[in-house]
Amino acid sequence: MDREKIRIAIDGPSGAGKSTIAKAVAKELNIDYIDTGAMYRALGYKLAGKGIPAIESPELLEVLDNTDIDFSEGNIILDGVVVNDKIRTPEISKMASDVSAIPIVRKKLVALQQKIAGNKSVIMDGRDIAEVVIPDAEYKYFMTASAEERAERRYKELIAKGEDVTFEKVLSDIEKRDYNDSHRAASPLRQVEGAQLLDTTGMSIEEVVNHILEEVRK
Ligand code: C5P
Repeated sequence: MDREKIRIAIDGPSGAGKSTIAKAVAKELNIDYIDTGAMYRALGYKLAGKGIPAIESPELLEVLDNTDIDFSEGNIILDGVVVNDKIRTPEISKMASDVSAIPIVRKKLVALQQKIAGNKSVIMDGRDIAEVVIPDAEYKYFMTASAEERAERRYKELIAKGEDVTFEKVLSDIEKRDYNDSHRAASPLRQVEGAQLLDTTGMSIEEVVNHILEEVRK
């Protein structure tokens, strides 16, 4: 791609397909993909391992100051260790949602995300990317799908990984997380002005990827 910098922000609720789509678009455009949810998950995973609850406390601040989160070759690295699979459990999803509601956590991770994005072309997904992390992104999407379809996708993923879950539990977790993410005081999930609504219910991955590529390559 010979156009100068392009930054693509993708926000939306969990299970909307953000990371699958963002990864595929990044590959096509040969730009970096930054999964900001993985950063909240990595921090949540570390806190859970230490038995520290997701509320602002001296212990949590101590961990926040002494935690290194980075990406390398598509891996999420927590304090030098690859944690890709460990952060994708229902417990860590809940923990990530809880820690992400703490303002000081958001402040620190947003600054880190802005540093990682630097001055280059990126596609970033999360909840507050268009609003807070890269408000001057050239392309902004709010990607969603019905709660049932999102639960169905997540359920299949978890079953494929051998997790012992029921569809009803996955759906109720998604609904709870949607509620938490859109009702918190700090950067609640919402479609910002200037972001294009992309409802992926009934759409294939390829259709969504092509839709974005067509716009970006115009
Ligand atoms: O996207 P993912 O499901 O991996 O995100 C995990 C949790 O991290 C979400 O429930 C959300 O609360 C939080 N998150 C956030 N801001 C972001 C990305 C994720 O608050 N930019």
